[in-house]
Amino acid sequence: MREQVIQILRDEAAWTGPFLIMPEVKTQAVPTHRRNADGLSRLRREILDCDACPLSRTRKNVVFGEGDPHAALMFIGEGPGAVEDETGRPFVGPAGELLTRIIKAMGLKREDVYIANIVKCRPPGNRDPHPEEVAACIGYLHEQIDAIRPKIIVALGRIASHTLLGEETPISRLRGAFREYQGIMLMPTYHPSYLLQNPAKKRDVWEDIQKVMEVLGIPLQ
Ligand code: URA
Repeated sequence: MREQVIQILRDEAAWTGPFLIMPEVKTQAVPTHRRNADGLSRLRREILDCDACPLSRTRKNVVFGEGDPHAALMFIGEGPGAVEDETGRPFVGPAGELLTRIIKAMGLKREDVYIANIVKCRPPGNRDPHPEEVAACIGYLHEQIDAIRPKIIVALGRIASHTLLGEETPISRLRGAFREYQGIMLMPTYHPSYLLQNPAKKRDVWEDIQKVMEVLGIPLQ
């Protein structure tokens, strides 16, 4: 009888055994670059039909931003112009060509950095975005910055610098000195559109950019 009971218990153990053993869970970390890219494409899909402010009624395309989701350097402008609105890409008009030249002068390519704007839809006639439009849109930029966590943000011009720093010091005084934005170094400098009107200020921007290069460990060419 004892032998029988033992056998029954053995059979039972053999039968339930496989169900008692937890399957081995392989916790494979998702590489950061993929996590960032996935997060950003989800956000891009989310905002393509955004109608949170009146700019959505006059835009042709939402200009989300583009570049390396894992970039150490992020450029933030004000808002799309006409060519950006047509193409859905940031900084591809005349000011964009100048920004691209600045990036190349750093020894980088556009694909090495991330480029975004304070507002994602074009303000008609390239006017400044209204505070309510900035307020409606800024959360998207915060999410982009959170996903990318660059080492340095270059804030291009008054609107980007004032919005991110929450102060209205003239850009001529802000530029050239590192500030901090949510634990990230932020360099305010002039906007490329301003440089197109005031080419003499390119020298100042190049000085600011060299400071950025130094922190990033990019050797001067
Ligand atoms: N100016 C900006 O601020 N952003 C762009 O994308 C283009 C021009």
